[in-house]
Amino acid sequence: MEAPTPSSDVPPVLESCIPLPIDESQLLEVVEKAKDWAIMHGAAMRSKTDFSPDALQFAPFILTPSSFPRKEFEKAVELQTTLNELMHAASHDTDFLRDTLQGTIKVDAFTRSLFEIYEIVLKEGICQPLSLGLLRSDLMLETRCENECRVQCRRAKAYCCWKQVEINSIASGFGHLGPASKSLQSFILRELGYAEKLAQLPENRALYGLCDAMVEAWKLQARPQAVILFVIEDITYNICDQRFHEFYIRETYPHIQVIRRTLTQLQEQAKLGPHRELLLGSENLEVSVIYFRAGYEPGHYYGEQEWAARLLMERSSAIKCPSIQYHLAGTKKVQQALAKPGILKRFITDERKIDTIKEIFTGLYSLDKNEEGDEAVKLALSNPERYVLKPQREGGGNNVYGTDIPAALDKMSEDERSAWILMERIFPPVSRGYMIRPGGKMPPEIVNLVSELGIFGAVIGTKDKIIYNKQVGHMLRTKLSSANEGGVAAGLGALDSPYLID
Ligand code: ADP
Ligand code: MG
Repeated sequence: MEAPTPSSDVPPVLESCIPLPIDESQLLEVVEKAKDWAIMHGAAMRSKTDFSPDALQFAPFILTPSSFPRKEFEKAVELQTTLNELMHAASHDTDFLRDTLQGTIKVDAFTRSLFEIYEIVLKEGICQPLSLGLLRSDLMLETRCENECRVQCRRAKAYCCWKQVEINSIASGFGHLGPASKSLQSFILRELGYAEKLAQLPENRALYGLCDAMVEAWKLQARPQAVILFVIEDITYNICDQRFHEFYIRETYPHIQVIRRTLTQLQEQAKLGPHRELLLGSENLEVSVIYFRAGYEPGHYYGEQEWAARLLMERSSAIKCPSIQYHLAGTKKVQQALAKPGILKRFITDERKIDTIKEIFTGLYSLDKNEEGDEAVKLALSNPERYVLKPQREGGGNNVYGTDIPAALDKMSEDERSAWILMERIFPPVSRGYMIRPGGKMPPEIVNLVSELGIFGAVIGTKDKIIYNKQVGHMLRTKLSSANEGGVAAGLGALDSPYLID
């Protein structure tokens, strides 16, 4: 069957996994049940508006899973180990990182501070040759994709293929909430009488896969008394996601201790031992693996002491997730540089792999102070709705969209532009469903939604050799189709999971 050409204005609608609307009394009942199920199984967070360290609220969720084309899901899953390989190679190419980030670090103080740590450890000699990458490649379906990568998605009555939004190399969250969303929506589908639909929800072992990779790093260190350290923020809102990592490790590998410290506490408690072991407190507790769930945004560093803690950890023999070079390789600027023509062959030898990676990039443009940057500015000004402007920040809420772009560019000097990249906007298909949020209207209304899939990868290796490379699971976040961004912790997005359609 020939699929029609996508219309440029009205996005195609993916068919819902069950007939909608749900009868009101059934809806009210299942929503009440689902909210309790979510809290009681850790599909939950601490509230930002009504904070108490002793209380949890269910995380916003979509009542039933959102449709996602199976072929595209499978392609994304299959590509992950290649993306792991790419990120591993890019993060170990000092010249590439220096060249790519040189303009950015002149004007972006945060990236500069990270880069200074990198330069210090390079000069001293990197003490721990192994890096642990727990990556998450985020992607959206694109309905306006070019011919060569169009895949027919029959139920959407349109073509769609997926495009990468970004790849995260630090604090890639939802290893627990991803699988928990599947469990929650499976419960709901069963309660609604659609048990037969569960076969279309793919298995999701993200939590185990991420933790097993941490444990693998711990084993490679061969320090039986050493612990795994989670570096955390002062207040952890996304506490279930983090704690379930810890609890899984403790249950499955009870001989491995997990501890949590903030950067500020680490500055007070941490020192290096005679062989640059990271030692904590008066009892000299040794840390052999560090998992950063904080440290990815300027607000996590109150001053010199938090930066000193970060440097100390980097100088240690602990395996870092991420090491500083992995953190730098996860910047938006590096993502843009990787999409430049001809760059991939520097990192990947297999031509077929290069071709598949190329397909997932949308247009990514440098805004550096040169002719190329000037051209990108012209592009953005001529048609701002087609673009997103991104700084070197993580965690959501930092980008500039569409018609806000001209004013943002206008305010920047040519030098300041180097801190940003320009990216083509992805136009995903819409799905319809119920978004359930704490304090939300009851009964909920059917709304238009768009989803973002994240695929998790785990990789361990040295500059020259990868010794562990896996795709380990996924997560789906869904937001109102009218919203630009969809962070769940920010209250904009909701937990979801893919319902695979052929
Ligand atoms: P962050 O590091 O803050 O998560 P992202 O690049 O992931 O930065 O952007 C945040 C959000 O903005 C994404 O989750 C997505 O919802 C939206 N977004 C980012 N890039 C695009 C794009 N090219 N097209 C459409 N939406 C985008
Ligand atoms: Mg993101």
